[in-house]
Amino acid sequence: DAPPGPAAGAASTRPRSPPPPKKDKVVPPPPPLIIRDKAKGVSYTRAGFLGEGGFARVYEVFDDSGLRRAVKVVNKASIRTKKNKTKLWAEIKLHQMLNHPDIVRFDDCFEDDENVYMILELCENGSLMDLLRRRKRYSEPEARYFLVQLIAACQYMHDNNVIHRDLKLGNLFLDGNMNVKVGDFGLAALIENEGERKKTICGTPNYIAPEVLFDTANGHSFEVDIWSVGVILYTLLIGKPPFQTKDVKAIYRRIRENRYDFPADKEISASARELIVSILNSDPVKRPTLQSILDHPWFMEGQFPSYIPNSANDIAPDYS
Ligand code: ADP
Repeated sequence: DAPPGPAAGAASTRPRSPPPPKKDKVVPPPPPLIIRDKAKGVSYTRAGFLGEGGFARVYEVFDDSGLRRAVKVVNKASIRTKKNKTKLWAEIKLHQMLNHPDIVRFDDCFEDDENVYMILELCENGSLMDLLRRRKRYSEPEARYFLVQLIAACQYMHDNNVIHRDLKLGNLFLDGNMNVKVGDFGLAALIENEGERKKTICGTPNYIAPEVLFDTANGHSFEVDIWSVGVILYTLLIGKPPFQTKDVKAIYRRIRENRYDFPADKEISASARELIVSILNSDPVKRPTLQSILDHPWFMEGQFPSYIPNSANDIAPDYS
């Protein structure tokens, strides 16, 4: 979870080359200008740099018919350990399975001697985190719009036995029409047997559910994504995550104690507040289901926009 920094969001304001290397980090050479999928006989021409994550660098590309896509490039030298390889194949396997309008489309996957390439739907408007940095907070109508799309994606994932496990503003991308696309399946897990519990401690500190950290014996399941939906809603409306503090241990202590507040200077509606409190229940069994979140009166109170204009990248749309 990156700390707030300079705006780096919309396609037009994005850096066109990767940032300077961090100390001690071995920086792989950039992928070729023309990336070829030899087996299929197709190629992708690299255009701008879009962003980077743990192992991957993401570029905008044009396919042979001129369509813009994103390519997520993982350098093979950086995933030498068996654990890292297993993680990458799990990400590819799970993301490839999913096909939903609110999930980043996974078009193709291939490799050459240096890299593994994932061809993805291009999300031109960056992530909800980029937008928050510019806007500081979202209006309630915008939050309603984005939350309905996020919940639709979660319902689809859960129906297909996939837990995302890393839902956060930085992994919610926006396409050219400002629609949410859930991405980055790097921590996702498949529930293969009914009632199965996952035990790996993973997630991003600010968004991690208490049972992942403190009920390792019993494990966790789909409810961790619902917790993250609550953290996301709070963050959209207040402008920072509920349990945020300077050090990670203190964040975990706050999560364990379920200690967060609604700052008096950041006005939000009583029903939004009530919904957030109900989702951020420490007991996963008592958390609302995705359907009952959608049925909450907050979605029916106030405006529900039919679309979000591109100008929302810089200024709050006027819903008065
Ligand atoms: P990692 O799994 O290594 O964390 P991500 O999938 O989160 O990598 O991607 C890293 C960055 O690349 C993102 O923060 C975003 O800026 C950019 N990015 C990733 N996927 C896309 C996409 N489909 N369209 C546009 N930008 C993307």
